[in-house]
Amino acid sequence: MHVSLVEPNWNYKVRAKNWENYMKERYLPIGLLKLGSLYRKMGATVELVRGDGLTLKKPDLMLIISLFTYWWQPVWDSVRTYKTLYPDSKVVVGGVYASIMPEHCKKNGCDEVHVGLMEEAESLIPAYDLIQDCKFCVIHASRGCIRKCSFCHVHKLEPKFEPKWSIKSEIVKPNVSFLDNNLLSNPYIENILTELIEAKVKASYCLSGVDAALVTQEIAKLMFEANFRDIRISFDRADEEEACERAIRYFEEAGYQRKKIGVFVLYNFEDSFEEVEKRRALIKNWGAHIIKQRYIPIPSLTQTYLHPKWKEEECEQFAINCREQLKD
Ligand code: SF4
Repeated sequence: MHVSLVEPNWNYKVRAKNWENYMKERYLPIGLLKLGSLYRKMGATVELVRGDGLTLKKPDLMLIISLFTYWWQPVWDSVRTYKTLYPDSKVVVGGVYASIMPEHCKKNGCDEVHVGLMEEAESLIPAYDLIQDCKFCVIHASRGCIRKCSFCHVHKLEPKFEPKWSIKSEIVKPNVSFLDNNLLSNPYIENILTELIEAKVKASYCLSGVDAALVTQEIAKLMFEANFRDIRISFDRADEEEACERAIRYFEEAGYQRKKIGVFVLYNFEDSFEEVEKRRALIKNWGAHIIKQRYIPIPSLTQTYLHPKWKEEECEQFAINCREQLKD
């Protein structure tokens, strides 16, 4: 049996110039790579196709991954492309969009929609060899989250908080990317960070923002020693001001430059333009840089949602103000 694992052609153009390479290198289609290991164990040959390329040969099974619900179109395009090329091959779609909107996803012509994780594949080391010259390993040190922020869907997608005590056996590349929803909420985080240090990891990354309230001096120090790069902190509510300011201070004391610390700010949500602007000014005073995050409800098939408390001009103005601030 031959299995083609397909990552659709995501629309990276909507983001910053270097974002595509950054994302492709650090945030590998980990679910597909784990499935690659699973199908190999079952005796199949597997290949990974990134961006709707040609397959090496006619697959018996195609597994297509999906991400954000508003990135549904590339998934549909992939299904159409491969169903036209290989009408006899079975096409299964899984991943985030497929799990959140299975009924919508079913309409794209695929044979099956897989909802949720594939438990049998979860504990396997991903088939990194499917990516040429792969220097990153991708790790979930936990699933779920200890919090239930009103704008976030994690507690519905991964309702159970499951932290790992150790990730030692998963550090198989010089660089590590964490895909945890809330890395620091892991009660064993100090052990995890110590394992990275002992493994002499070249660089570590965390895609989600760090939960400011959970940053201690010891954790900031361990993160620095574990070569965490691109530190980003979440500042989504006004009551996180003190924790955020303190976290930046701890990171600076640990060895990070303030200007290199990013702070996520959610806008187009319940806090008004004026309130979010206050947050922007605070970040400027702290000497860190702002990373704006426009709220899009889940599920949503577009990125154009406007919150009733916001006007489109305010969203635009906030985006302009952030861009200007980054030039300072
Ligand atoms: S802390 Fe982060 S992952 Fe957890 S619920 Fe809030 S936004 Fe979601």
